[in-house]
Amino acid sequence: MASLRPITRLAPRRTHPYCAVHLRRHFATASDIRNPTAEAAATQHQQQQRSDNKVKIVEVGPRDGLQNEKKSIPLATKIELVERLAKTGVSFIEAGSFVSPRWVPQMDNSSEILEHILTKMVSSPVPITYSFLAPNAKGIDNASALLQKHTGAYITQAESFAGAIAGDKPAIELAVFAAATESFSKKNLNCDIATSLEKFKDVVQGAKKLGIRARAYISVVLGCPFEGYDVDPHKVAEIATSLLEMGADEISLGDTTGMGTAPRTQELLKCMAAAGIRNEDIAMHFHDTYGQALVNTAISLERGIRTFDSAVGGLGGCPYSPGATGNVATENMVYFLESLGMETGIDLDAMADIGQWISKELGRPNDSAVGKAVLGARKTEASTSSL
Ligand SMILES: [Zn+2]
Repeated sequence: MASLRPITRLAPRRTHPYCAVHLRRHFATASDIRNPTAEAAATQHQQQQRSDNKVKIVEVGPRDGLQNEKKSIPLATKIELVERLAKTGVSFIEAGSFVSPRWVPQMDNSSEILEHILTKMVSSPVPITYSFLAPNAKGIDNASALLQKHTGAYITQAESFAGAIAGDKPAIELAVFAAATESFSKKNLNCDIATSLEKFKDVVQGAKKLGIRARAYISVVLGCPFEGYDVDPHKVAEIATSLLEMGADEISLGDTTGMGTAPRTQELLKCMAAAGIRNEDIAMHFHDTYGQALVNTAISLERGIRTFDSAVGGLGGCPYSPGATGNVATENMVYFLESLGMETGIDLDAMADIGQWISKELGRPNDSAVGKAVLGARKTEASTSSL
Protein backbone atom coordinates (compact mmCIF):
# COMPACT_ATOMS: atom_id res chain seq x y z
CA MET A 1 0.00 0.00 0.00
CA ALA A 2 1.65 3.23 -1.20
CA SER A 3 0.53 5.29 1.78
CA LEU A 4 2.47 3.09 4.17
CA ARG A 5 5.84 3.65 2.46
CA PRO A 6 7.08 6.59 4.58
CA ILE A 7 6.81 4.52 7.76
CA THR A 8 9.51 2.16 6.59
CA ARG A 9 11.47 5.10 5.13
CA LEU A 10 11.47 6.80 8.52
CA ALA A 11 12.39 3.75 10.54
CA PRO A 12 16.18 4.34 10.41
CA ARG A 13 15.65 8.05 11.14
CA ARG A 14 14.01 7.19 14.45
CA THR A 15 17.12 5.44 15.69
CA HIS A 16 19.54 8.19 14.58
CA PRO A 17 21.56 9.26 17.64
CA TYR A 18 21.37 12.97 16.73
CA CYS A 19 17.70 13.00 15.90
CA ALA A 20 16.01 15.60 18.11
CA VAL A 21 12.60 14.00 17.97
CA HIS A 22 12.77 10.56 19.44
CA LEU A 23 10.31 7.82 18.78
CA ARG A 24 7.82 10.00 17.02
CA ARG A 25 5.78 7.74 14.82
CA HIS A 26 5.24 9.23 11.41
CA PHE A 27 2.30 8.03 9.43
CA ALA A 28 1.66 8.84 5.81
CA THR A 29 -1.59 10.72 5.59
CA ALA A 30 -2.87 13.15 2.99
CA SER A 31 -0.93 15.99 4.69
CA ASP A 32 2.35 14.20 4.06
CA ILE A 33 2.30 15.39 0.44
CA ARG A 34 5.26 17.74 0.00
CA ASN A 35 3.81 19.86 -2.83
CA PRO A 36 2.43 23.04 -1.07
CA THR A 37 -0.63 23.39 -3.35
CA ALA A 38 -1.43 19.76 -3.04
CA GLU A 39 -0.76 19.99 0.68
CA ALA A 40 -3.24 22.87 1.09
CA ALA A 41 -5.85 20.96 -0.89
CA ALA A 42 -5.15 17.88 1.17
CA THR A 43 -5.52 19.85 4.41
CA GLN A 44 -8.88 21.23 3.27
CA HIS A 45 -9.98 17.76 2.28
CA GLN A 46 -8.78 16.44 5.62
CA GLN A 47 -10.76 19.08 7.50
CA GLN A 48 -13.89 18.07 5.61
CA GLN A 49 -13.18 14.46 6.46
CA ARG A 50 -12.22 15.12 10.09
CA SER A 51 -15.62 14.34 11.55
CA ASP A 52 -15.45 11.02 9.75
CA ASN A 53 -11.92 10.29 10.98
CA LYS A 54 -12.73 9.27 14.53
CA VAL A 55 -12.70 5.57 15.18
CA LYS A 56 -14.07 3.96 18.30
CA ILE A 57 -12.07 1.02 19.59
CA VAL A 58 -13.78 -1.38 21.96
CA GLU A 59 -11.08 -3.05 24.05
CA VAL A 60 -12.28 -6.62 24.63
CA GLY A 61 -9.13 -8.03 26.27
CA PRO A 62 -10.44 -8.33 29.85
CA ARG A 63 -13.45 -10.45 28.77
CA ASP A 64 -13.18 -11.95 25.29
CA GLY A 65 -9.40 -12.06 25.63
CA LEU A 66 -9.11 -13.64 29.05
CA GLN A 67 -12.08 -15.98 29.01
CA ASN A 68 -10.34 -18.68 27.00
CA GLU A 69 -7.22 -18.68 29.16
CA LYS A 70 -6.82 -22.05 30.84
CA LYS A 71 -4.78 -20.75 33.78
CA SER A 72 -6.85 -19.11 36.51
CA ILE A 73 -6.16 -15.36 36.58
CA PRO A 74 -6.23 -13.59 39.97
CA LEU A 75 -8.87 -10.91 40.44
CA ALA A 76 -6.13 -8.36 41.22
CA THR A 77 -4.55 -8.95 37.79
CA LYS A 78 -7.91 -8.51 36.04
CA ILE A 79 -8.57 -5.28 37.91
CA GLU A 80 -5.06 -4.03 37.17
CA LEU A 81 -5.63 -4.81 33.48
CA VAL A 82 -8.87 -2.79 33.44
CA GLU A 83 -7.28 0.09 35.35
CA ARG A 84 -4.23 0.23 33.10
CA LEU A 85 -6.39 0.11 29.95
CA ALA A 86 -8.54 2.94 31.33
CA LYS A 87 -5.49 5.21 31.28
CA THR A 88 -4.68 4.68 27.57
CA GLY A 89 -7.45 6.88 26.16
CA VAL A 90 -9.70 3.98 25.16
CA SER A 91 -13.36 4.81 25.83
CA PHE A 92 -15.01 1.36 25.73
CA ILE A 93 -13.74 -1.62 27.73
CA GLU A 94 -15.39 -5.02 27.82
CA ALA A 95 -14.65 -5.88 31.43
CA GLY A 96 -16.40 -9.13 32.34
CA SER A 97 -19.26 -11.54 31.94
CA PHE A 98 -22.24 -12.55 34.08
CA VAL A 99 -22.21 -16.07 32.77
CA SER A 100 -22.45 -19.18 34.95
CA PRO A 101 -18.98 -20.02 36.34
CA ARG A 102 -19.80 -23.62 35.48
CA TRP A 103 -19.54 -22.65 31.80
CA VAL A 104 -16.78 -20.06 31.96
CA PRO A 105 -14.83 -20.37 35.26
CA GLN A 106 -12.45 -17.59 34.21
CA MET A 107 -15.27 -15.01 34.44
CA ASP A 108 -16.23 -16.07 37.96
CA ASN A 109 -15.34 -12.76 39.64
CA SER A 110 -16.97 -10.38 37.17
CA SER A 111 -19.32 -9.04 39.86
CA GLU A 112 -16.28 -7.95 41.90
CA ILE A 113 -14.89 -6.21 38.83
CA LEU A 114 -18.19 -4.37 38.24
CA GLU A 115 -18.37 -3.45 41.92
CA HIS A 116 -14.80 -2.14 41.78
CA ILE A 117 -15.66 0.01 38.76
CA LEU A 118 -18.77 1.36 40.51
CA THR A 119 -17.20 2.09 43.87
CA LYS A 120 -13.59 3.05 43.14
CA MET A 121 -12.83 5.99 40.95
CA VAL A 122 -10.90 4.36 38.12
CA SER A 123 -8.97 7.26 36.66
CA SER A 124 -9.13 7.79 32.93
CA PRO A 125 -8.42 10.69 30.54
CA VAL A 126 -11.80 10.19 28.80
CA PRO A 127 -15.22 8.98 30.03
CA ILE A 128 -15.41 5.20 29.81
CA THR A 129 -18.22 2.77 29.12
CA TYR A 130 -17.63 -0.66 30.67
CA SER A 131 -19.38 -3.55 29.02
CA PHE A 132 -20.44 -6.82 30.68
CA LEU A 133 -21.86 -9.85 28.99
CA ALA A 134 -25.19 -10.93 30.50
CA PRO A 135 -26.26 -13.85 28.35
CA ASN A 136 -29.46 -14.87 30.15
CA ALA A 137 -32.07 -13.97 32.77
CA LYS A 138 -29.81 -15.06 35.63
CA GLY A 139 -26.97 -12.91 34.27
CA ILE A 140 -29.16 -9.83 33.97
CA ASP A 141 -30.59 -10.44 37.47
CA ASN A 142 -27.10 -10.56 38.99
CA ALA A 143 -25.91 -7.49 37.07
CA SER A 144 -29.13 -5.58 37.85
CA ALA A 145 -28.90 -6.32 41.58
CA LEU A 146 -25.40 -4.89 41.66
CA LEU A 147 -26.30 -1.85 39.57
CA GLN A 148 -29.38 -1.12 41.69
CA LYS A 149 -27.27 -1.39 44.83
CA HIS A 150 -25.06 1.36 43.40
CA THR A 151 -27.65 3.58 41.72
CA GLY A 152 -26.08 6.94 41.05
CA ALA A 153 -22.59 5.46 40.76
CA TYR A 154 -22.86 5.20 36.98
CA ILE A 155 -24.04 7.51 34.26
CA THR A 156 -27.25 6.52 32.47
CA GLN A 157 -27.79 6.64 28.73
CA ALA A 158 -30.18 9.58 29.10
CA GLU A 159 -27.56 11.51 31.10
CA SER A 160 -24.89 10.81 28.53
CA PHE A 161 -27.23 11.87 25.66
CA ALA A 162 -27.85 15.08 27.58
CA GLY A 163 -24.09 15.61 27.64
CA ALA A 164 -23.82 15.29 31.41
CA ILE A 165 -20.27 14.88 32.59
CA ALA A 166 -20.93 13.35 35.97
CA GLY A 167 -17.44 13.61 37.42
CA ASP A 168 -15.56 10.39 36.81
CA LYS A 169 -18.68 8.26 36.81
CA PRO A 170 -18.46 5.36 34.39
CA ALA A 171 -21.19 4.27 31.99
CA ILE A 172 -22.18 0.59 32.03
CA GLU A 173 -23.39 -1.52 29.14
CA LEU A 174 -24.81 -5.04 29.10
CA ALA A 175 -24.25 -7.36 26.16
CA VAL A 176 -25.75 -10.51 24.68
CA PHE A 177 -24.25 -13.06 22.34
CA ALA A 178 -26.15 -14.55 19.38
CA ALA A 179 -24.74 -16.79 16.65
CA ALA A 180 -25.12 -16.59 12.88
CA THR A 181 -25.50 -20.34 12.35
CA GLU A 182 -27.82 -22.87 13.95
CA SER A 183 -24.95 -25.31 14.67
CA PHE A 184 -22.89 -22.71 16.54
CA SER A 185 -25.95 -21.47 18.43
CA LYS A 186 -26.84 -24.99 19.57
CA LYS A 187 -23.25 -25.81 20.52
CA ASN A 188 -22.57 -22.52 22.34
CA LEU A 189 -25.96 -21.43 23.65
CA ASN A 190 -27.75 -24.80 23.82
CA CYS A 191 -30.67 -23.53 21.78
CA ASP A 192 -31.57 -22.52 18.25
CA ILE A 193 -31.24 -18.94 17.02
CA ALA A 194 -34.94 -18.08 17.42
CA THR A 195 -34.99 -19.28 21.04
CA SER A 196 -31.78 -17.36 21.82
CA LEU A 197 -33.30 -14.15 20.44
CA GLU A 198 -36.37 -14.68 22.59
CA LYS A 199 -34.13 -14.98 25.70
CA PHE A 200 -32.13 -11.88 24.77
CA LYS A 201 -35.27 -9.73 24.89
CA ASP A 202 -35.16 -9.95 28.71
CA VAL A 203 -31.55 -8.80 28.81
CA VAL A 204 -31.99 -5.93 26.37
CA GLN A 205 -35.18 -4.78 28.07
CA GLY A 206 -33.50 -5.22 31.47
CA ALA A 207 -30.66 -2.93 30.35
CA LYS A 208 -33.17 -0.38 29.09
CA LYS A 209 -35.01 -0.45 32.43
CA LEU A 210 -31.72 0.33 34.15
CA GLY A 211 -31.23 3.17 31.68
CA ILE A 212 -28.06 1.74 30.18
CA ARG A 213 -26.80 0.66 26.76
CA ALA A 214 -27.30 -2.82 25.36
CA ARG A 215 -24.80 -4.33 22.92
CA ALA A 216 -25.40 -7.47 20.90
CA TYR A 217 -22.75 -9.69 19.39
CA ILE A 218 -23.41 -12.01 16.51
CA SER A 219 -20.64 -14.58 16.31
CA VAL A 220 -19.34 -16.65 13.37
CA VAL A 221 -20.64 -14.12 10.82
CA LEU A 222 -17.89 -14.92 8.29
CA GLY A 223 -17.23 -18.59 8.93
CA CYS A 224 -18.45 -21.28 11.29
CA PRO A 225 -16.36 -24.16 12.63
CA PHE A 226 -19.32 -26.50 12.02
CA GLU A 227 -20.88 -25.10 8.85
CA GLY A 228 -17.80 -23.72 7.07
CA TYR A 229 -17.22 -20.49 5.15
CA ASP A 230 -20.63 -20.26 3.66
CA VAL A 231 -22.47 -18.31 6.37
CA ASP A 232 -25.51 -16.59 4.88
CA PRO A 233 -25.08 -12.78 5.17
CA HIS A 234 -28.87 -12.38 4.82
CA LYS A 235 -29.32 -14.47 7.95
CA VAL A 236 -26.82 -12.21 9.77
CA ALA A 237 -28.75 -9.11 8.66
CA GLU A 238 -32.01 -10.71 9.79
CA ILE A 239 -30.63 -11.50 13.27
CA ALA A 240 -29.11 -8.00 13.53
CA THR A 241 -32.47 -6.44 12.62
CA SER A 242 -34.25 -8.48 15.33
CA LEU A 243 -31.68 -7.40 17.92
CA LEU A 244 -31.94 -3.73 16.93
CA GLU A 245 -35.73 -3.94 16.98
CA MET A 246 -35.68 -5.28 20.54
CA GLY A 247 -33.62 -2.24 21.57
CA ALA A 248 -29.92 -3.12 21.14
CA ASP A 249 -27.82 0.02 20.67
CA GLU A 250 -25.03 -1.63 18.72
CA ILE A 251 -24.43 -4.88 16.85
CA SER A 252 -20.93 -6.31 16.92
CA LEU A 253 -20.37 -8.63 13.97
CA GLY A 254 -17.89 -11.27 15.10
CA ASP A 255 -15.57 -13.13 12.79
CA THR A 256 -15.02 -15.58 15.62
CA THR A 257 -13.04 -18.07 13.55
CA GLY A 258 -10.99 -15.48 11.63
CA MET A 259 -12.19 -17.11 8.40
CA GLY A 260 -13.38 -13.77 6.98
CA THR A 261 -11.83 -12.49 3.76
CA ALA A 262 -12.04 -9.10 2.07
CA PRO A 263 -14.70 -10.11 -0.51
CA ARG A 264 -16.85 -11.83 2.14
CA THR A 265 -16.57 -8.83 4.48
CA GLN A 266 -17.63 -6.59 1.60
CA GLU A 267 -20.58 -8.86 0.80
CA LEU A 268 -21.69 -8.98 4.44
CA LEU A 269 -21.62 -5.20 4.87
CA LYS A 270 -23.46 -4.67 1.56
CA CYS A 271 -26.12 -7.02 2.83
CA MET A 272 -26.38 -5.15 6.15
CA ALA A 273 -26.80 -1.84 4.26
CA ALA A 274 -29.42 -3.39 1.95
CA ALA A 275 -31.34 -4.47 5.06
CA GLY A 276 -31.43 -0.82 6.17
CA ILE A 277 -28.95 -1.23 9.06
CA ARG A 278 -26.98 1.96 9.66
CA ASN A 279 -23.18 1.91 9.80
CA GLU A 280 -23.24 3.68 13.19
CA ASP A 281 -25.13 0.72 14.64
CA ILE A 282 -22.44 -1.73 13.55
CA ALA A 283 -19.11 -2.71 15.14
CA MET A 284 -16.73 -5.15 13.48
CA HIS A 285 -15.00 -7.78 15.59
CA PHE A 286 -12.20 -9.48 13.70
CA HIS A 287 -9.97 -12.32 14.77
CA ASP A 288 -6.54 -12.57 13.20
CA THR A 289 -6.42 -16.37 12.93
CA TYR A 290 -5.56 -16.23 9.21
CA GLY A 291 -3.89 -12.80 9.31
CA GLN A 292 -6.83 -11.10 7.57
CA ALA A 293 -8.10 -8.87 10.39
CA LEU A 294 -6.59 -5.59 9.16
CA VAL A 295 -7.46 -6.25 5.53
CA ASN A 296 -11.05 -6.79 6.63
CA THR A 297 -10.83 -3.66 8.78
CA ALA A 298 -9.76 -1.65 5.70
CA ILE A 299 -12.77 -2.94 3.77
CA SER A 300 -15.07 -2.03 6.68
CA LEU A 301 -13.58 1.47 6.94
CA GLU A 302 -14.16 2.02 3.23
CA ARG A 303 -17.78 1.10 3.75
CA GLY A 304 -18.08 3.65 6.58
CA ILE A 305 -17.80 1.47 9.70
CA ARG A 306 -16.13 3.39 12.53
CA THR A 307 -16.29 0.96 15.49
CA PHE A 308 -13.89 -1.95 15.90
CA ASP A 309 -13.30 -4.47 18.67
CA SER A 310 -9.76 -5.55 19.52
CA ALA A 311 -7.79 -7.00 22.45
CA VAL A 312 -4.51 -5.77 23.88
CA GLY A 313 -1.64 -8.16 23.13
CA GLY A 314 -3.96 -10.09 20.78
CA LEU A 315 -5.43 -11.82 23.85
CA GLY A 316 -7.87 -14.60 23.26
CA GLY A 317 -7.74 -17.86 21.50
CA CYS A 318 -9.83 -19.73 19.06
CA PRO A 319 -10.99 -22.93 20.78
CA TYR A 320 -11.38 -24.58 17.37
CA SER A 321 -7.86 -23.87 16.11
CA PRO A 322 -5.37 -24.71 18.86
CA GLY A 323 -2.35 -22.44 18.76
CA ALA A 324 -4.03 -19.93 16.46
CA THR A 325 -4.12 -16.26 17.36
CA GLY A 326 -7.30 -14.73 18.73
CA ASN A 327 -8.67 -11.22 18.61
CA VAL A 328 -6.83 -8.72 16.47
CA ALA A 329 -4.37 -6.92 18.76
CA THR A 330 -5.34 -3.39 19.80
CA GLU A 331 -1.75 -2.23 19.19
CA ASN A 332 -1.94 -3.46 15.55
CA MET A 333 -5.36 -1.88 15.12
CA VAL A 334 -4.30 1.53 16.51
CA TYR A 335 -1.11 1.62 14.42
CA PHE A 336 -2.99 0.63 11.27
CA LEU A 337 -5.83 3.11 11.75
CA GLU A 338 -3.52 5.99 12.60
CA SER A 339 -1.33 5.20 9.56
CA LEU A 340 -4.47 5.89 7.53
CA GLY A 341 -4.97 9.25 9.26
CA MET A 342 -7.78 8.01 11.49
CA GLU A 343 -7.99 9.09 15.14
CA THR A 344 -8.36 6.51 17.90
CA GLY A 345 -7.39 8.68 20.88
CA ILE A 346 -5.31 5.77 22.19
CA ASP A 347 -1.74 6.03 23.45
CA LEU A 348 0.00 3.29 21.44
CA ASP A 349 3.08 3.22 23.69
CA ALA A 350 0.97 2.68 26.80
CA MET A 351 -1.03 -0.03 25.02
CA ALA A 352 2.19 -1.78 23.92
CA ASP A 353 3.39 -1.80 27.54
CA ILE A 354 0.12 -3.34 28.72
CA GLY A 355 0.26 -5.99 25.98
CA GLN A 356 3.74 -7.00 27.08
CA TRP A 357 2.84 -6.97 30.78
CA ILE A 358 -0.36 -9.04 30.50
CA SER A 359 1.27 -11.55 28.12
CA LYS A 360 3.98 -12.10 30.72
CA GLU A 361 1.41 -12.40 33.52
CA LEU A 362 -0.38 -15.09 31.53
CA GLY A 363 2.83 -16.84 30.54
CA ARG A 364 2.01 -16.55 26.86
CA PRO A 365 3.82 -14.87 23.97
CA ASN A 366 2.90 -11.30 23.09
CA ASP A 367 0.73 -11.75 19.99
CA SER A 368 0.98 -8.16 18.78
CA ALA A 369 3.55 -7.57 16.03
CA VAL A 370 3.15 -3.81 16.48
CA GLY A 371 3.46 -4.07 20.27
CA LYS A 372 6.74 -5.93 19.92
CA ALA A 373 8.02 -3.49 17.28
CA VAL A 374 7.17 -0.47 19.45
CA LEU A 375 8.98 -1.97 22.44
CA GLY A 376 11.92 -3.01 20.24
CA ALA A 377 12.23 0.49 18.75
CA ARG A 378 12.21 1.94 22.26
CA LYS A 379 15.06 -0.35 23.32
CA THR A 380 17.10 0.58 20.23
CA GLU A 381 16.42 4.24 20.90
CA ALA A 382 17.56 3.91 24.52
CA SER A 383 20.78 2.18 23.54
CA THR A 384 21.64 4.63 20.72
CA SER A 385 20.84 7.74 22.75
CA SER A 386 23.19 6.57 25.50
CA LEU A 387 26.09 6.42 22.99
ZN1 LIG B 1 -13.30 -12.16 19.82
